[in-house]
Amino acid sequence: MEQKQFQAESKRMLDLMIHSIYTHKEIFLRELISNASDAIDKLYFRSLTDDAVGIQKDDFCIELRPDKEARTLTIRDNGIGMTAEELEQNLGVIAHSGSRAFKSENTLDENTDIIGQFGVGFYSAFMVAKRVTVRTRAYGSDTAYEWQSEGVDGYTIDTCVKNDVGTEIILELLDDTDDEKYSEFLEEYRIRSLIKKYSDYIRFPIRMEISREKKKEGSESEYETEIETVTLNSMTPIWKKNKNELKDEDYNQFYREKFYDYNEPLLHLHGRSEGTVTYNSLLYIPAKAPYDYYSKDYEKGLQLYANGVMIMEKCADLLPDHFSFVRGLVDSEDLSLNISREMLQHDRQLKLIAKSLEKSIKNELSKLLKTDREKYTEFWKAFGIQLKIGVYNGFGANKELLQDLLLFHSSGCDDKEGFTTLAEYVTRMREDQKYIYYAAGESVTRCASLPAAELVRDKGFEVLYLTENVDEFAIQMIAKYQDKEFKNVSAGDLGLESDEDKTALEEKNTASKDMFEEMQKALAGKVKTVRLSNRLKNHAVCLSSEGQLSLEMEKVLNTMPTGEKVQAERVLELNPDHPVFAKLEQLYKDDKDKLAVYSDLLYQQALLIEGMPIEDPVALSKMICDLMVQ
Ligand code: ADP
Repeated sequence: MEQKQFQAESKRMLDLMIHSIYTHKEIFLRELISNASDAIDKLYFRSLTDDAVGIQKDDFCIELRPDKEARTLTIRDNGIGMTAEELEQNLGVIAHSGSRAFKSENTLDENTDIIGQFGVGFYSAFMVAKRVTVRTRAYGSDTAYEWQSEGVDGYTIDTCVKNDVGTEIILELLDDTDDEKYSEFLEEYRIRSLIKKYSDYIRFPIRMEISREKKKEGSESEYETEIETVTLNSMTPIWKKNKNELKDEDYNQFYREKFYDYNEPLLHLHGRSEGTVTYNSLLYIPAKAPYDYYSKDYEKGLQLYANGVMIMEKCADLLPDHFSFVRGLVDSEDLSLNISREMLQHDRQLKLIAKSLEKSIKNELSKLLKTDREKYTEFWKAFGIQLKIGVYNGFGANKELLQDLLLFHSSGCDDKEGFTTLAEYVTRMREDQKYIYYAAGESVTRCASLPAAELVRDKGFEVLYLTENVDEFAIQMIAKYQDKEFKNVSAGDLGLESDEDKTALEEKNTASKDMFEEMQKALAGKVKTVRLSNRLKNHAVCLSSEGQLSLEMEKVLNTMPTGEKVQAERVLELNPDHPVFAKLEQLYKDDKDKLAVYSDLLYQQALLIEGMPIEDPVALSKMICDLMVQ
């Protein structure tokens, strides 16, 4: 018979399995049982709409058959089975979720334990077996096939005789060594404890025949062997168990296995709701964002079960985008099993569930924010941006829901990471403070060093530092928080001056009107206005903006791959108390050409301070050098 080769990736995985010194070899049983359960799920699902299946719900089961003499362990299911093509596809090629993550291992720390991290699936059988035989017959097919392999050398597929639909996996266990007693996997106590540990919640019975020595009836001293079939699992899925029966470790273990995450989740939410719609839910907030989370490849969604049967792997409608990081499942008695995807989208029950889950997630996050700031900050670092995007999206439809979950860097808070909530900011506001001030830039240091931020701080007001691209868009969407407007320190009137100060500045502006017109001419197309400002303390110059679009927003929008380039209405602001201003006035009288050069130079400096690109750095350098040699 022809020996076929495994695909390269599969071969690597197999190699890893066989030579693994992985201590948890025992997980092979969990993996094979989980596959068997999935296969039964598929056929059971089918049996609900197709009478031809002919198996009653109670007859679906997984059987374990240890044979000490032959040194084999057989795992048998009456699930959907595999056709010859499927055998080839599924067992010759690595194509399961666990190994997909395995392929992208370059995103992981090299020293991390790959096998421990992912569900390793079928191949884990080779951690304990020298030969694996799979005998299977697909539902609807008359032919059964036998797949056999001793590991990396490849595998064979042949037809075989199998009377019933389903799959049987026969493991010929490796020889015992000093360190590893593979024969233990044939012992009843060991199998029982493995099932309890890993597969207790499997919905179908896992059965095993055991023999008991029993006293012969009517005799005091004679014994006979009795064969009894026992069910090893309790069959209650974890989400249907009582909370007080479960420990954090139970939840975490279920999470890691179910969602292929090797990190412990940050928190879990286990709920049951009875009312207009009845359901159990078990949700998790991961500790870290998956590597593809902020890419378009990421698919949000919760697993959806109708009364214990999984009907959808990722039901996107159950999660709003702003909570797309949540993993987990929902099991409802009120959903019909054979509901189609299209119908599901319009399902009223589903909408109710989604609404109530959204509320629970929000409440849980609010609670975390209040009770465990450190953990919340960890959450925030992984998924905070998503919440801010959520505030912005849909024209602010969700801002009420989300605004109190937001954290911002700030100049004046006690949090050791330098984060504040908006509510905390407001409680620290001074009585005479009109606005919630913010500065936008690419980093906290950058924001803090903006001249205008310095001025506002010096007046004793706290400044939020908006460092993410989405920040200012979200803030504009919120517009007002507890009746306080937001104010960008680099735009418009900061409301810091007395009426006299304002009038005095106006007078100075009027006095220098002609000079500013001259400067504007020199800066045609670059700035809309040149004027004096009280925004500056020590610096000579800064850029500010008028209108909705701030300089930072201009930067962000212009980095987007699509869309037209935008420009904020730029204002070049000068410090009336800086010696440079006096110099300009003198040049306006004596040397208009030089005034033009100086105007440009000041404009370019203002761009640099704002972190905006300089159009022609070479020309700027030349201008400075010319000045240096004068
Ligand atoms: P995964 O279960 O993560 O998809 P595996 O390597 O464990 O990956 O299995 C690969 C595929 O082989 C499964 O997705 C399934 O289609 C098929 N398979 C494995 N075991 C069985 C089984 N007992 N019955 C039917 N199909 C199976």
